[in-house]
Amino acid sequence: MNHKILTTKEGKSFYIKDISKDYHCQFGFIKSNDLKKKDGSIIKTNTKKELKIFTADFIDSYKRIKRGAQIITRKDIGLIVAETGINKNSKVVDAGAGSGALACFLANLCKEVTTYDIREDFIKIVEHNKEFLNLKNLKIKNKNIYKGIDEKQLDLITLDLPEPWLAIPNAKKSLKIGGFLISYSPTIPQVMDFVNTISKDKDFMHVKTVELIQREWEIEERKVRPITTQTVHTGFLSFIRRV
Ligand code: SAH
Repeated sequence: MNHKILTTKEGKSFYIKDISKDYHCQFGFIKSNDLKKKDGSIIKTNTKKELKIFTADFIDSYKRIKRGAQIITRKDIGLIVAETGINKNSKVVDAGAGSGALACFLANLCKEVTTYDIREDFIKIVEHNKEFLNLKNLKIKNKNIYKGIDEKQLDLITLDLPEPWLAIPNAKKSLKIGGFLISYSPTIPQVMDFVNTISKDKDFMHVKTVELIQREWEIEERKVRPITTQTVHTGFLSFIRRV
């Protein structure tokens, strides 16, 4: 994958998938040969606008994955990673795959991620994103997670489903002792049903349920304040440990 990023001094960026062709943007066009220059080079468009070029990283490509279903945002993914300590040795199962946003991010960090979805149209989107991000350790299954989880001794199971409590019995059989089960739900009735159900099982420990609110600020000379309109609510994260 040899994708490139072009940035302007003002903070705008362009993502280039094919450097074998000239690239056209609002500032004019850049010759294909210039797109092959080394990282950090300054490149001029035909209208003399200066842009900097560098090779796209995982995160640059990740921001451009295809979206079907509503995805889990990076602020919430950050907390999942930080609370579980998952790493290059971890085995993870995720459901539903949706656009594969969470699954792809985790696959970039973990040993193996398997993601389940019941909808074939979403499976196709995840396959596309897997290929786009070149993730060899991501397995995609067109299966209902409520009917069983094939993988065992898992370090983490992530659920982003309408009825996550229905996945609890299968999660119990597939998690290693000490492994994590995390459920992401946009609404409180889902959180209540999930946490109240799982709290009755002595083989699970409810660690905490969290809503993570992120406020971005704009900083321009003395105009320093929160950005006026931004996403307030995404979802609640419930952290459970298999004990
Ligand atoms: N976390 C995903 C988004 C998931 S959206 C992301 O970050 O991209 C919820 C998905 O759950 C939908 O795609 C839906 O088809 C799937 N789903 C619903 N019930 C399911 C079930 N029983 N088993 C597997 N997938 C299911």
